[in-house]
Amino acid sequence: MVEKEIVEEIKKYDANFSKIEFKRWCGEVLKILQEAWSKKDLETLKYYEVERLYLLHEEQLKAMQKNKIINVTKDMEINEIKIIDYNRMPDCEIFKVIISVSLIDYYQKENSMMILSGSLNQRVNADYKLEIVRDKDFLTDWLVDKSTMVCPNCGAVINLLQQKKCAYCDSVFITMDTSYKIMSLEI
Ligand SMILES: [Zn+2]
Repeated sequence: MVEKEIVEEIKKYDANFSKIEFKRWCGEVLKILQEAWSKKDLETLKYYEVERLYLLHEEQLKAMQKNKIINVTKDMEINEIKIIDYNRMPDCEIFKVIISVSLIDYYQKENSMMILSGSLNQRVNADYKLEIVRDKDFLTDWLVDKSTMVCPNCGAVINLLQQKKCAYCDSVFITMDTSYKIMSLEI
């Protein structure tokens, strides 16, 4: 299926689904996860990843820590983001996305300049395959309509897109971060 058909399929169930917003979020989250991985920032990984993927990453990072190895990934530039598949499962929906990037990626011995693999200054190209999950029958609601920027419950003005709940009525806003989780991540 080409992307256009996939998006039409998604919109059959979720009319407000925004391809642009979704892709923007995918790109941002990939950058955040890469940075968290380099810094061994488990809290951030836990926030964005489903438990099974998080536990795998935690194990890999702990092994690297034990062996005093750091994987530096930085200066990521995104070239293209493509939605390649979409599946409605009994209890969830799964999106498959390919993100083509270039970045600096190398392995280093802790507290030393020794490079184990990769290059400090040579950019490499990589295609990341992501599976992203959200609850079945989720409906994209206020997320899309940034033009109004008001609380869907009480109508109070929202000052920041990152705001997690309404300052007046305390309603928790549904955001991309609360609705979508990374289920798998491969190169
Ligand atoms: Zn409110």
